Amino acid sequence: MEGLSCREFVDFLEAYREGTLAPAVAEQFRRHMNACPPCVIFLETYNSTVDLTRSLCSEDDEIIPPEVPEGLIRSILDARRKG
Ligand SMILES: [Zn+2]
Repeated sequence: MEGLSCREFVDFLEAYREGTLAPAVAEQFRRHMNACPPCVIFLETYNSTVDLTRSLCSEDDEIIPPEVPEGLIRSILDARRKG
């Protein structure tokens, strides 16, 4: 089996992160990282982007975004009181 191309590396990236790659493919994936520094940088950037997105999303569950109009918040609170 030939090594992965950069395109295949990107295709397998998500599965690699989730640990769902077949062992033989994961081995090819790691070999590509050893041989291809740009893909390592891509993977690191991808990881930090996903982590950043996740932390922003989890904050959204707790904090009301500032762009929500106050009138809308009041109407939601009123509706809850009535319910
Ligand atoms: Zn590559």
